[in-house]
Amino acid sequence: MAQDIVTRFAPSPTGFLHIGGARTALFNWLFAKHHGGKMLLRIEDTDRARSTQEAVDALMDGLSWLGLDWDGEPISQFSRVARHEEVVDQMLENGTAYRCYSTPEEVDAMREKARAEGRPPRYDGTWRDKDASEAPEGIDPVIRLKAPQDGETVVDDMVQGRVVIPNKDLDDFVLLRSDGTPTYMLAVVVDDHDMGITHIIRGVDHLTNAARQTLIFDANGWDVPKMAHIPLIHGPDGAKLSKRHGATGAEAYRALGYLPQAMRNYLARLGWSHGDEEIMSLEDMVKWFGMDAVGQSAARFDFKKLENL
Ligand code: GLU
Repeated sequence: MAQDIVTRFAPSPTGFLHIGGARTALFNWLFAKHHGGKMLLRIEDTDRARSTQEAVDALMDGLSWLGLDWDGEPISQFSRVARHEEVVDQMLENGTAYRCYSTPEEVDAMREKARAEGRPPRYDGTWRDKDASEAPEGIDPVIRLKAPQDGETVVDDMVQGRVVIPNKDLDDFVLLRSDGTPTYMLAVVVDDHDMGITHIIRGVDHLTNAARQTLIFDANGWDVPKMAHIPLIHGPDGAKLSKRHGATGAEAYRALGYLPQAMRNYLARLGWSHGDEEIMSLEDMVKWFGMDAVGQSAARFDFKKLENL
């Protein structure tokens, strides 16, 4: 039997459900429904200073208003910290990660040196093969991935095509900070694996993370989910979407009296189209949705067009 499709929407609860997030959620939802699969909701609340319950409520409220339901209970990334640490321990044990005692100043100097020599600014791997007995006292180490130094990492993206990154451009990045907290890069991979995510659909601004995340999946011997990095949404003038273009929360549109159907229809067409269809029912969207019709160029969000729907 074919594997059941599981997607996820993984917002950081630092504000309302903005247009870009709403469109990402819609694509995840449509893709899952089209394949008779599931969409899970993961709240990426590890940034304790910026995450608020108010934002969590606003995100869920915005999704519900758009009719985008999620399967099961929402998962808090922060609640999974012990599991993230457990995976790092396993990686230390199997030699795919190591403790690094370089100070932030030393790492800065390494980056500066690389830059001066015309190389990408990277950590130089000083602690890769050192013995723990050489560890200086009084310094809490960070844990880094032992990234492969030769070869290349390939991200076979459903929208962006085959993206090839030479491994020498991917340094030994940090998995666990010196205060013991997991980085975003690690948490996402562990959660995607444990949640059984088969397809990662998110904004193309995450494409550069995809190669690093692939290395973490590989280091753990886990299957890498299929990925689809969808184009960003720009304003009508082609510039990055900002408040000036009406990039407020989805709920702001509700307050303005827009119907969720109109909003959904409009969001779907920001990057995806089906023939000349202007107005589609949700059933038709589910029936027709596919990543092959998602283009690579940035979609333009035109507040006026939405007004005319
Ligand atoms: N939490 C990230 C964001 O809100 C998304 C992470 C991901 O989809 O992998 O941009």
